[in-house]
Amino acid sequence: APQSSSSAAATAQAPTKIAVMTSGGDSAGMNAAVRSVVKMAIFKGCHAYVIREGWEGLVRGNDEDQGSNPTPHEESLDAGPESLAQPRREGKAAKIKFVPTYGEGELLKEGVSEAETVGLKGRYIVRVGWDDVRGWLDAGGTLIGTARCAAFREQAGRLKAAHNLIKHGIDALAVCGGDGSLTGADRLRAEWPELIGMLKDNGDITQAQFERYAHLKIVGLVGSIDNDLAGTDLTIGAATALSRICEAVDSISSTAASHSRAFVVEVMGRHCGWLALMAGVATGADYCFIPEQPPHGSWDDAMCDVLTKHKKAGKRKTIVIVAEGAIDKDLNAIKADDIKKVLEDRLGLDTRVTTLGHTQRGGRPVASDRILATLQGVEAVEALLEAKPETPSYVITIRENQVTRTPLMEAVKQTQLVAHKIETKDFDGALALRDPEFDECLRSFWYASKVADEEGKLPPAQRLTLAIVNIGAPAGGMNAATRTFVRYCHARGHKPLAIHNGFPGLLEDSVTTLDWLRVDNWTIRGGSELGTNRVLPDVDFGGVASKLQQHGIQGLLLVGGFEAFQAVKQMEERRTEYPSFRMPIASIPATLSNNVPLNEFSLGSDTSLNTLVDACDAIKQSASASRNRVFVVETQGGQCGYLAVMGALAAGAVLVYTPEVGINLKMLGGDVEFLKRRFALDVKGKSEGRLVIRSEKASDVYTTDFLTRMLKEEGGKNFDARSASLGHTLQGGTPSPLDRTRGTRLAVKCCEFLEEHAWAAAKAQSKSKSATNYDRAANEASAAIITIIGSGVQFTPCVEMTRHADMKKRVGKKNWWQPHKALAELMGGRRGLGVGD
Ligand code: ATP
Repeated sequence: APQSSSSAAATAQAPTKIAVMTSGGDSAGMNAAVRSVVKMAIFKGCHAYVIREGWEGLVRGNDEDQGSNPTPHEESLDAGPESLAQPRREGKAAKIKFVPTYGEGELLKEGVSEAETVGLKGRYIVRVGWDDVRGWLDAGGTLIGTARCAAFREQAGRLKAAHNLIKHGIDALAVCGGDGSLTGADRLRAEWPELIGMLKDNGDITQAQFERYAHLKIVGLVGSIDNDLAGTDLTIGAATALSRICEAVDSISSTAASHSRAFVVEVMGRHCGWLALMAGVATGADYCFIPEQPPHGSWDDAMCDVLTKHKKAGKRKTIVIVAEGAIDKDLNAIKADDIKKVLEDRLGLDTRVTTLGHTQRGGRPVASDRILATLQGVEAVEALLEAKPETPSYVITIRENQVTRTPLMEAVKQTQLVAHKIETKDFDGALALRDPEFDECLRSFWYASKVADEEGKLPPAQRLTLAIVNIGAPAGGMNAATRTFVRYCHARGHKPLAIHNGFPGLLEDSVTTLDWLRVDNWTIRGGSELGTNRVLPDVDFGGVASKLQQHGIQGLLLVGGFEAFQAVKQMEERRTEYPSFRMPIASIPATLSNNVPLNEFSLGSDTSLNTLVDACDAIKQSASASRNRVFVVETQGGQCGYLAVMGALAAGAVLVYTPEVGINLKMLGGDVEFLKRRFALDVKGKSEGRLVIRSEKASDVYTTDFLTRMLKEEGGKNFDARSASLGHTLQGGTPSPLDRTRGTRLAVKCCEFLEEHAWAAAKAQSKSKSATNYDRAANEASAAIITIIGSGVQFTPCVEMTRHADMKKRVGKKNWWQPHKALAELMGGRRGLGVGD
C-alpha cells in the first residue's frame, strides 16, 4: 500500500539525500569525484548514496524494493565529522546515532566485483558512510561501476529511475560522465514533472510524495578523457589520459631512435583532438593529425614535406600522432595504417603502428585530476543544496582556475556544435569553440616542429639575436621551454644563444648557438640541460652588462623561480646605468614552490606535485600495511605552502602544516585529539595509515622530527608515527605533460614578446639620436614576467610584480590556493570535530 501521508511528512523533515553516480566511459578521477561528493554531503548533514552501474543501476533499483512501496531506509552509516565529534563512551558506542562504518560499510575499496560478494547483489542504490570512500583518491576507473544503458533512453526507463529515486527519498543527484550521460541527466530533470505525475496516477507514489518530490535537483560533473566538453578548460580524467599517452610515446621514442624507425601512434578522441595535440606538443612529435584542423591540401603531401625536412636536418626517429577521429579536408578518415603506408611508400621509412587503446583510460589518476575532481565534487554538493525549481541544472566546470557552474544543456549543446562544425567543414568555427589554450598549443606545435625554408623566415632586417638562461633550482618543463625557444628562433630566422650555467656562465663566455637538432629530445628531459644556479646579476652588474653587449644580445628570456624574477628586477632597475639592460627581458616562472607573485602556476609545480603524490601513495600503502601508523611527510617549498596544501588535497592527507599558517601548541593539541579519536573509531584490525604533510618551513620549533616524536608519544597504543622527508626528489623526475605543454606554450609567447619589444625599441632608437635621456618608466613594460592568471596568460611588468611580492619571504602577498588547506583537512575529517579548529 502507498506510504501514509504522515510518514511522508516525516520524510519531509529528513536530511537531504544526495546520490552520486558515474556513467558512460570511465575516466581517472571519477572515484575522487564520488569521494568528494559523499564526504561533502555528509559534512553538510545530508545522507549520501551511490548509484552503482550508472543509469542502468538507477533503472534497476534494488531487488528488495520491487513490487511494493518501501519501508523507509534507515541505515546509520555516517561516520562524518559530526559523529566523530561525539564523545565516545566505552560500551555505549551503539548509542551514538551514526555508527562508524569502517569495515561495516557496504562498499569496500576493493571495488564493485568484490562488493558483490559482500551483499550488494541486486542492490544498486546504496547508502554510504564517510569511510566507505576511504582510499578512493588513488584508484583508477570507477569503483561504483559504470554502464551504457539503452533503457534510460526510453521514457519507460526514466519512469522507473524516477520511481527508484523517490522510493529512497533521494531528491538530489550528481552525475559524473560525458556529454551523453549529462544529456540523460537533463532529460530526466526536464521530464520530471511528467514522470511524477504518471507515478501518482498509477498509484505508485502518494499525493504527499508527489508534492515532496516535485522538484529534482541535478548537477553534472564532467568525467571524460577526451576533454571535449565546451565551457570547461579541463575534464576529469583528461590529464591522466594524457599522462598515460606521454609515458607510452616517451618509451616508443627511445626504440624509434635506436632503430631509426617511424612510429604512428593512434590516440583516443573522436571529435576532439585535445589528447593528440597535447601529446604531440608534450612529446615533441614530428606530426599530428586532429579532427579540428585537417591540412589544407593533401594530407600526405603536407606530412611528407615536414618529415622530409626533419630527415634532412638529421633526425633518426619519426613520431606521428593521430587522433582516432582524424579526417582530411574532405572529411575522409585518416587512419594509422594509411599513414604507415605513405611513410613506407613515399619516404621509405621502416614504420610501425601503435594503437594505445584502453591503456589511456586506466591507471592511477595524476594529481591534477584528483584535485579537479575533489574541488568539483564540493561545488556539486553546494550547487545541489542551493538549487531551486527555477534554476537550471548546472554542470560544474573549471575556467580561469575557478571552479564554476555552467548551465548543463548550454555546455552540451556547444559540445555537439563542435561535431556539427566539423561535419560541415567549418574547421575554423570548430577551433573557435575550443578553449584559447587549444589554439595556442596548435601554434606552438607548428613552431616547435617546423624546419623553415629561407623564404619562410623573417626578412633579414627583422632578425634578432635572442638569448635564454636558466636561473634557480631545476624545475620540470624548463627544457621544453628551452627547446621551443630554440625552435622558434630557427623558424623565424633569429639567432638562438644559450647561456650555460646562469650568470656565472655568461661572465665566463659559456654562450653557444643551439642548432635545431640538438634540442630535439629536450621536451621529455627533467632537470636543466643548460645548467642552472641561484647567482643573480648583482654578482657583477658591469660584467653582465658588457657580456650581453659583447654577444650582441637583443632580447633575453630567463626561465626560473623567484630568482629569475629578482634577476629581471635587478636589471630593470639598472637600465638607466647600463644600456644593454634596456633590451626586452622576459621571464617564465619555473619552480616547484610556485611562489612567484601573481602567477598561479609555475613550470615544475605540476611535476613536483605528481612526484609528491606518488611518494605519498607509496608511503600510505606502507602505513596501511602496518595498520595504526601516522606518517609525517616533509616537503620542500620554502616559505610557500603550495606544494604541501595541494599535495595534501591530492594525496588525501588528514593534516597539513604550512609556513603561512604556522604551527602552535593549541593547534597541535586539537590535531592530536583528532587523531586519537579517529584511530579509536577504526574497526579493530582494519585501521589504515594516515598521512600528515608538513612544509619544511612551517615552523622552526615544531620540526618534522618533533611532530613525529610527539605523535608517537601521544598515540600510545592507538597509533605509531614515522617520518619521511622527500627533499630534492621533488625537483627531479620526468616532467609532467602539463608542465611540458605549458613550457612550450609560454616560450612561444615570450619569443613573440621579445620580438615585439625589440622591434619597437629599434624603431624608437632610429628616431631619437640621443641615448642619454633614457626614460625608464616609459619602458617598464619591456621587462616582464609571463604570468598565468586563471586560464589567461599575460605579461606583468616586473615593476608591477614587485608590488605584489613579499621580497623578504620570497612569496606573493596573496595566494589563491590558501583556502584549500581547510578543504584538505575537511576531506580528512579534521574539521567539524570541535577540537580547536
Ligand atoms: P563518453 O564521453 O565516454 O562517451 P558519455 O556519457 O557521453 O561518455 P554515452 O554512452 O553517450 O557516454 O552515454 C551514457 C549513457 O547516458 C547512455 O548509455 C544512456 O543511458 C544515457 N544517455 C545518453 N544520451 C541520452 C539521451 N539523449 N537521453 C537519455 N539518456 C541518454
